[in-house]
Amino acid sequence: MEYFSSDFKLGILGGGQLGKMMLTETRKWDIQTFVLDPSPQAPCKIGSHHFQVGDLMDFDTVYNFGKQVDVLTIEIENVNVQALKKLEKEGITVYPSGQTLEVVQSKAKQKLFYVDHNLPTADFSRFGYKAELEAAMTNTIVEYPFVWKSAKFGYDGRGVKIVRNDDDFQQLPNVECIVEELVNFKKELAVIVARSASAEVAAFPVVEMEFHPEANQVEYVICPARISKEVAAKAELIALKASAAFEHVGLLAVEMFQTQDDEILINEVAPRPHNSGHHTIESCFTSQFEQHLRAILGLPLGKASNYVAGVMVNLVGEPGHTGDAIYQNIDAILDLEGVTPHIYGKKETRPFRKMGHVTIINTDVSAARVIAEQVKKTIKVKST
Ligand code: ADP
Repeated sequence: MEYFSSDFKLGILGGGQLGKMMLTETRKWDIQTFVLDPSPQAPCKIGSHHFQVGDLMDFDTVYNFGKQVDVLTIEIENVNVQALKKLEKEGITVYPSGQTLEVVQSKAKQKLFYVDHNLPTADFSRFGYKAELEAAMTNTIVEYPFVWKSAKFGYDGRGVKIVRNDDDFQQLPNVECIVEELVNFKKELAVIVARSASAEVAAFPVVEMEFHPEANQVEYVICPARISKEVAAKAELIALKASAAFEHVGLLAVEMFQTQDDEILINEVAPRPHNSGHHTIESCFTSQFEQHLRAILGLPLGKASNYVAGVMVNLVGEPGHTGDAIYQNIDAILDLEGVTPHIYGKKETRPFRKMGHVTIINTDVSAARVIAEQVKKTIKVKST
């Protein structure tokens, strides 16, 4: 199929920052795009050819949107899966598949998938409701501390709690959940694997993720991860296995824990471009967004290695600030070495809302990490 400067139509479900960065690549290649998002002010409103406001979880909306395009992809996993399955049956190419998204949308199904496919993951149990978990605790089947995860729609830390005592337990909502062993990890790692329908694969370098303790959100992503070659090879192999197990087409971001004895456990996967791959825009031969397009369009994959070290800092809304966003001291960070800010174009800021990110490239990863901290301290997203 001819994609470039043609009548070909690419549909993207979700119009947030990931979509916006994907649109930079479709613009580069002059590919026609259709985007669906619930917000009339979504970042993808500019940059797409056809922008539609609509509910991503509504069957008819997603189905009718998908009928207009040749290839349909996502930038967020919370979309109507039944509509995707019907579109696939009717000949629309949908990557990632409805089946993959069905597994990924539920943390319980994801964990069972890892077990079924011999992929290493932390021990867990499943509970339909809170009283069932309480009974398991009374019978000492589950003991403190543990990690509680809502089975469905956990996003950016809101559906995950570390439960250490009765007080923490009382605060848990009464929803279907999984309970996981609390992993005493050395580092959190991630690998993004691109895979095309012909099973060509390319893995981006292993990165390490540092989390903000309060928001439970990634604060820094460091590429390459400061780990041994052996651990990096193990993490890459497990990510490749996960991508093959899903028979995935497109990007699969695999988040992992490196345990104290250097075992690798999969935490979760995201079948799309991912926050842990934003640095690729500046630090790798091919950006994750271009690679995603190459994979879903059946084009040859690009070289995924990095030619320079990259550290990414998430720019999140300052606590205590809600309203129209302003970016303080952006000129000061532009004065630092190797710094590129990305501003997503969300009008309203809220505490810890992802408003942008900044990438720092340097030949030395430690130097990049030092500058990243300076960036973090200097730039602030506040309300007017
Ligand atoms: P989300 O879907 O909200 O991103 P995750 O499952 O990735 O949720 O969990 C968010 C964070 O919580 C992880 O990045 C990690 O820091 C911590 N976490 C999750 N599961 C465990 C675990 N089993 N042991 C220790 N920490 C965990």
